[in-house]
Amino acid sequence: MLGAHVSASGGTPRAVQRAVKAGCDAFQLFVKSPRQWHARPLGRGEARAFRDAFQQSAVKRSVAHGTYLVNLAATDPATLRRSRSTLGVELGRCQTLGVPDLVVHPGAHLGRGVEAGMAAVAASLTRVLAQRRGRATRLLLENTAGQGTVLGFRLEQLAEIRRLAGHRERIGFCIDTCHAFAAGYRLDRAAGWREFVGELDRHLGLANVGCLHLNDSHHEAGSRRDRHANIGQGRIGRAALKRLLRDPRLDGLPMLLETPLGDDGLGHQRDLALLRQLAGGPS
Ligand SMILES: [Zn+2]
Repeated sequence: MLGAHVSASGGTPRAVQRAVKAGCDAFQLFVKSPRQWHARPLGRGEARAFRDAFQQSAVKRSVAHGTYLVNLAATDPATLRRSRSTLGVELGRCQTLGVPDLVVHPGAHLGRGVEAGMAAVAASLTRVLAQRRGRATRLLLENTAGQGTVLGFRLEQLAEIRRLAGHRERIGFCIDTCHAFAAGYRLDRAAGWREFVGELDRHLGLANVGCLHLNDSHHEAGSRRDRHANIGQGRIGRAALKRLLRDPRLDGLPMLLETPLGDDGLGHQRDLALLRQLAGGPS
């Protein structure tokens, strides 16, 4: 199920139109502005229009991505409160729109240490999920490149956060290939990929992985620097992405591009065409 992150500017139904136009089987969108705390209310009839557009399209899956400002391990009480309430708003919005998965970054411990940070993230998740019962949108914890004090660059950390949290059945994972590679997982090598999928299954359980972010990496393995490159134009490379696309253990998972759009804005179309070729062409 291949697709990309698409813009929701002009309203969430426009995101569906863009996904259709780009030829996506699945897409990711922001359900509120990702660089502001403020959430513009959904327009009148917007949720209905989004659901209708989605149902009438050939697109099979939608995934939401959370606000960048949110830090579920924030040390400042006001920021922590704001982070939790913003995630709550996004989760509620996903439920209204019928989006089954919301990708969130675990957060940054800001110097108080990994253990305390993971406990704080888990407490935040527990609270937010307790307040938004009913239609079950899952939260997908995304692995990170590990810049600064960011948590979740080791799969064990993601597993531990989920283990510490309540409402665990509503917590899954999103795996970003660029982040994993930058964090030191050698997805570029056949043995490294085998090992990585083994760890995914052992620590997270493949059934709990809700989607993949398919990005090549501008920086080298272990750099802990997060800069996405277009497919085949980074350090992970085509051969590795081909191996991933053809791995039957990942069958049926939404695989979403977050690669640069380029000057002509067609980066995702080019990357999608290349992915389809790598997934289906002769080996
Ligand atoms: Zn990502």
